[in-house]
Amino acid sequence: MPVTRRQIVGRGLAGRCPNCGGHTLFAAGARFTIHERCANCGLGFNRGEGFFLGPLVINYTVTVIVFIIPVILLNVHGVISTKAAIVATGGGALLIPILLYRRSWSWWLMTYFYFLPQKLSGNVDVQHEGGEE
Ligand SMILES: [Zn+2]
Repeated sequence: MPVTRRQIVGRGLAGRCPNCGGHTLFAAGARFTIHERCANCGLGFNRGEGFFLGPLVINYTVTVIVFIIPVILLNVHGVISTKAAIVATGGGALLIPILLYRRSWSWWLMTYFYFLPQKLSGNVDVQHEGGEE
């Protein structure tokens, strides 16, 4: 049964393996260490050198757009003081990436496999069969 893009998005938003939907991205006790492979289906989560930069970019982008820019705008429009803005942006820049770390990996895997669904092991056989028709 092929994995659809809709399933990939749903599993990505739920923090699950994009291939089988298992809760297998991170070990139960390990907050920041992603598994090399899915324990359920064997899908490799690290797709090669530099792949880890994807979650970092997502994490940084979300932090800036959702928190840093609004705080700066509040300061520019005089709602909060400059000192409060500096403290808030500094604290947010440290805390938000930690809180989003696991989600950013899930969102990155979702993005990667959304555009390359044929790379999922659940779709390899389907892709091959489709090529023979
Ligand atoms: Zn899996």
